[in-house]
Amino acid sequence: MGTTYPSYKWTLPNEVYFIIEYLEKRGHKAYLVGGAVRDLLLARPVDDYDITTDATPDELKAIWKGFPTILSGEKHGTIGVILNKVHYEITTFRQDGLYLDHRRPESVSFTRSLEEDVKRRDFTINALAYHPKEGLIDYVGGLEDLKAGLIRTVGKAPKRFEEDALRIMRAYRFMARYGFDLETKTSKACEKLLPSLDFIAQERISAEFIGLLEGAYLGQTWKHLRSLFSYLLPEVHYSEEMWEPLDYLPSDFVLRFTYMLYQGLDQGLIDDEGRPLVLCQLLKRLKLSRRQNQDILTLYQSLEHRPEPQVLDLLKFLRTYPVRLEDWILLDEVVSVNPYYGRHYRKELEQIWADINASNLPQTPQDLPLNGQDLLDLGMAPGPQIGLMLETLWEKALLKQVSPHKEDLLKLARSLIERGKCQA
Ligand code: ATP
Ligand code: MG
Repeated sequence: MGTTYPSYKWTLPNEVYFIIEYLEKRGHKAYLVGGAVRDLLLARPVDDYDITTDATPDELKAIWKGFPTILSGEKHGTIGVILNKVHYEITTFRQDGLYLDHRRPESVSFTRSLEEDVKRRDFTINALAYHPKEGLIDYVGGLEDLKAGLIRTVGKAPKRFEEDALRIMRAYRFMARYGFDLETKTSKACEKLLPSLDFIAQERISAEFIGLLEGAYLGQTWKHLRSLFSYLLPEVHYSEEMWEPLDYLPSDFVLRFTYMLYQGLDQGLIDDEGRPLVLCQLLKRLKLSRRQNQDILTLYQSLEHRPEPQVLDLLKFLRTYPVRLEDWILLDEVVSVNPYYGRHYRKELEQIWADINASNLPQTPQDLPLNGQDLLDLGMAPGPQIGLMLETLWEKALLKQVSPHKEDLLKLARSLIERGKCQA
């Protein structure tokens, strides 16, 4: 039996009221469900408003015929309706069949019962429903768990994780996001069944892993995360001290993960481009995006160096390691043995960077008001010397040995070419 709490009332987007009423006028039941209800209770911003209904997929298709829809989730009973450019997912009450591969049910069947639908959901805090007129509806003790800050599976934890091992990652991700505890049986089952993550596609694990690392309570919940991290990333050493600063770093995956890797990885062999082989292998295994890999490698390598606090050196550093200086400064601070050490240095860098941005200084040779063609027009032969000349002009402009105006730069280039000829 479920409990209804009529006293809960939230203001929802008009489109959500519209969807619920539109379905009800056609004889169906419809509720807001899942993450939205959880986040409303926690007074946190809601990402997606998902609706659950007793209308079957065919009925839904007929009902939303005149609206822009997305039918890619139809097999699982989900239809997307776009209202005022926002995508709302409407899913038929569903019961999952047997899970044989630790990933997906062999079959799904549609039901007319909200209770059955919420009972297939992963955690009690994710299994709450809300109706604008009826209030909050709880069949699984989700409200109590939410108040107590507990993540508990709906039903027996080992069974639920055996059905779908991705739920293990989700449990840890919600823990790191909300700073909740895992309920004892849920926690035990998570640890015990970690190896069943092997059945899950790496891309799906990594998507959850990214969310986990961005959690606001990552550092505080580390005690419970140790086994997971050791399982996913056995090559990283996890010291007690390395977790705390994580909560002070912005909630950015690349930044936090690079920090962990920098603190916990033995660099070992280096490839031709100066990248630790063990890091490259680890990133390859995680199947992150090319962009994420590149950003992590660049940031990681940049931490091995410290630019001199002067314009030219800083800009050269940023050309070699195209990182956001704010990120580098933050990481340089947290990876320092003594964070106070270098504070003055980092302030100086910030000041120089602010000055560079406030002035019109060319930040790279490409920002100069002349280009390779101008140098060819001066009689230089094509080839690498063009790039070198641009680099020289850029350096001299930054050192204020020449004004950064085209005429002055051309004049300097001409004299350098002449001098080169004399020397040759
Ligand atoms: P987030 O804010 O991260 O999106 P969410 O709870 O909305 O959190 P979704 O992945 O969007 O998570 O899923 C929506 C709902 O579907 C969940 O709240 C939960 O009820 C259910 N759900 C999602 N994944 C699973 C799963 N693997 N097993 C069981 N139920 C799930
Ligand atoms: Mg969601």
